[in-house]
Amino acid sequence: MTTERDTIEQLAELIRRSSNIVVFTGAGISTESGIPDFRSPGGVWDRMPPIYFDSFMSSAEMRKEAWRRRFAMEEMFVGAKPNAGHLAVAELARRGKVSQVITQNIDNLHQASGVPAERIVELHGNTTYATCLVCSSRYEIAPLKVCFDRDGEIPECRLCGGLVKAATISFGQPMPEAAMQRAQDATLACDLFLVAGSSLVVYPAAGFPLLAKQTGARLVILNRTSTDQDEYADLVIRSGIGATLTSVLALL
Ligand SMILES: [Zn+2]
Repeated sequence: MTTERDTIEQLAELIRRSSNIVVFTGAGISTESGIPDFRSPGGVWDRMPPIYFDSFMSSAEMRKEAWRRRFAMEEMFVGAKPNAGHLAVAELARRGKVSQVITQNIDNLHQASGVPAERIVELHGNTTYATCLVCSSRYEIAPLKVCFDRDGEIPECRLCGGLVKAATISFGQPMPEAAMQRAQDATLACDLFLVAGSSLVVYPAAGFPLLAKQTGARLVILNRTSTDQDEYADLVIRSGIGATLTSVLALL
């Protein structure tokens, strides 16, 4: 029988033998920071279907609704702090083990944990700021909320007049090309691909673990629940991310 201690030692050994690790994170790494998994059964999207990109673009009323929802979550995002899982990933990056963190999360917690921005690939964008959809100018959330509370709408981009939207990738919105390319390059170059807190159901993001495996990297899946890709993994761990990675770090 394999004990939890054995799996932690196995992961530590895989990390020791690796020099170019990609960590791929999903909602499961941020739940310990109080960010809910929107996609889980009974989660936010079960109660309140997401607003598709086309609706945001074509309907002023849907844009208002999207912003109302975003502002309703502001305290949660502003108050969230990196947890032991984020900090362990940041420590592995600091030690030169982790080359890139590919994340499906939009909460900015990898940056907040100290991973340099150039080592983070955000596949689904970032909700802690907004951008103009035409010229990509950046806008901060707090001043947009002041405008929204006063005028009932979000001003257009002051540089080009484009629509301003939270910098996340909505359903129906094209994937960010540069981020997808960086994620693919990192996946092809890595020798260990560590999934942490993703159920691997959202494509194209969920295609990266198998791509890594097919091109010779070892694959580890650390997630509370089973995934369709467990059978391809060299090691599957079903424990909490923070506790597991903290224990692994202590062995390195
Ligand atoms: Zn603009």
